Amino acid sequence: MSEIGTASAAKVLFTGRILAENLLPYPALKDKDRDSLGMIVEAIDQFLRPKSADFKRWDRDGAQPAEFIQGLRDLGLFGLIIPEEFGGLGLSNAGYARILAQTSRHDSSVSLTIGAHSSIGMKGILLFGTPEQKSRYLPGLASGEAIAAFCLTESGAGSDAASIRTRAEKNADGSWTLNGEKIWITNGGIADVYTVFARTASDAGKITAFIVEAGWPGVSHGHHEDKMGIRASSTTTVNFADVRVPPENVLDEEGKGFKVAMAILNNGRTGLGGGAVGGMKALLALSTAQARGRRQFGHAIADYDLVKDKIAQMTVDCFAAESVVWMVAHYIDAGFDDYSLEAAISKVFASEAMQRSAYEALQIAGGSGFMRDYPYEQVVRDSRILTIFEGTNEVLRLYIALSGLKDLGRSFAELKNALDDIFNHPIKGFGVLGDYAERRLTQATGIGRDRIAALVPAALGEASAVYEKYTLELAKTADFVLRRHGKAIADRQFDLRRIADIAIDLFVGLCVLSRAASLAAEPAAGAQAVSIANIFAAQAKRRMAAAIRRITRNEDDAVRGLADHVLDKGGYGWDVL
Ligand SMILES: Cc1cc2nc3c(=O)[nH]c(=O)nc-3n(C[C@H](O)[C@H](O)[C@H](O)COP(=O)(O)OP(=O)(O)OC[C@H]3O[C@@H](n4cnc5c(N)ncnc54)[C@H](O)[C@@H]3O)c2cc1C
Repeated sequence: MSEIGTASAAKVLFTGRILAENLLPYPALKDKDRDSLGMIVEAIDQFLRPKSADFKRWDRDGAQPAEFIQGLRDLGLFGLIIPEEFGGLGLSNAGYARILAQTSRHDSSVSLTIGAHSSIGMKGILLFGTPEQKSRYLPGLASGEAIAAFCLTESGAGSDAASIRTRAEKNADGSWTLNGEKIWITNGGIADVYTVFARTASDAGKITAFIVEAGWPGVSHGHHEDKMGIRASSTTTVNFADVRVPPENVLDEEGKGFKVAMAILNNGRTGLGGGAVGGMKALLALSTAQARGRRQFGHAIADYDLVKDKIAQMTVDCFAAESVVWMVAHYIDAGFDDYSLEAAISKVFASEAMQRSAYEALQIAGGSGFMRDYPYEQVVRDSRILTIFEGTNEVLRLYIALSGLKDLGRSFAELKNALDDIFNHPIKGFGVLGDYAERRLTQATGIGRDRIAALVPAALGEASAVYEKYTLELAKTADFVLRRHGKAIADRQFDLRRIADIAIDLFVGLCVLSRAASLAAEPAAGAQAVSIANIFAAQAKRRMAAAIRRITRNEDDAVRGLADHVLDKGGYGWDVL
């Protein structure tokens, strides 16, 4: 990938352009990663494969025993992304995501314990730590002697993370006094180091990130939450009562905590995505065995089209999730500054693909799928969290659409300030959109010049044409909704969701196209990779066409009105009595 390709490919789609240099050729794993990954994957399988009965028991009991966590330490699984100089394995994001894919093939709670530590718990120290903070904490975090957790959520602050109430007051000696309670903290009960976000009074109530040690006076955690899924993973409240935090434990700058939190979450999304891909691969192995082994009406159920459809769709979903997750991991590894939109897209797509696969795998297993002797019900329960944590998929869809629209406006230099104002101060900024309405976006940007069909094998020509056409359609649609709703676009959630869905299909589809192009010539399954890309493009085209049509032809007002009615009534008001 060229250096000029460090702009956000997903944001550029909103201007009607495909940034081919950011998408083609599909990036390969680094040789260094490939060598060490093979060995780690082998070691993980050897350690986790014999424990399938234990995982079931720990799911029921709701905890991982200390000896097992020690085993994870011994395998080096807490130091995956920590540089070698601090005792870690120094894997790239792409390598790390591949490890979480492997652990997730065995058990989701294992991935959570490792993932919450690396993806979010200690990521802040890695991204923002001072040399002193790194040398103090990273060696222990790499060996797993210290386990990390990320403490943002509170009872009143979930999706609206900026509304946290945990407070840190600055003392005369420069230290801080921390008070508050965080809820649902993964690794809360086993962590030694917490990344904690608190409101700091000193600078108009802004948020600051702190590194807090579990052993300090005033730090405690609640009981292990009794959860629906990922039950063996530790989830607890974490409480801070007059905790003295030394000045050197501020992470990044005072008042910059929200930026730190968002950077950690963006950077960590490939861990969740990698885990989802591993889960889907495990399901495909189970489902193919089940479909071939189970006979009904004189045939293996695998002979029936309605079962084949599920297997094929699970494969398309898995390949697509894998393609987008590793593309984003490579963006991060290549040092792109702006990948937040792509990371959000990969999280939304991979989490929903995993949930669809879990549902269909259970359906293929029929009644057996419902029985606890089989693994499916646990996978359904375990994967349910994926669309909720690390940003709900609803909020991430709003983010995808709004940041794409914001960036579209930014591509017009003269509108930059006005659009900033619209999104930051809606009232002040309004009015300038009048000028914007005069412009034809399609003329101003010269969109429509990008041809990717020429860059991929001929068998992918039709799929390329879908993305070329619908990238233009996204720009036109974005232009249309901005002109139609002006500042009110931020509240038009039905349209924002449609726009996000188009952006998701386009970006994921382009990643699939790129990967299929790079695999097309492989004798083993190249033709099938091309087939997956063509299936995805055909399905995406239908979804995108429907989303665009529904921008102008929809029943949004009726839907909103009905919801208001039911909300007013406090439930469903009809009965046949
Ligand atoms: C098992 C588990 C582990 C977790 N681990 C951690 C952790 O390690 N660290 C941590 O800090 N947090 C953690 N969390 C918290 C998690 O990140 C939050 O649950 C999540 O951010 C959503 O917040 P909420 O649950 O309060 O839902 P809410 O924000 O109350 O959302 C409820 C519903 O409303 C929707 N919604 C909210 N706002 C809007 C809007 N503006 N427009 C449209 N829809 C909206 C949401 O999409 C959702 O469907 C964990 C949670 C769980 C369940």
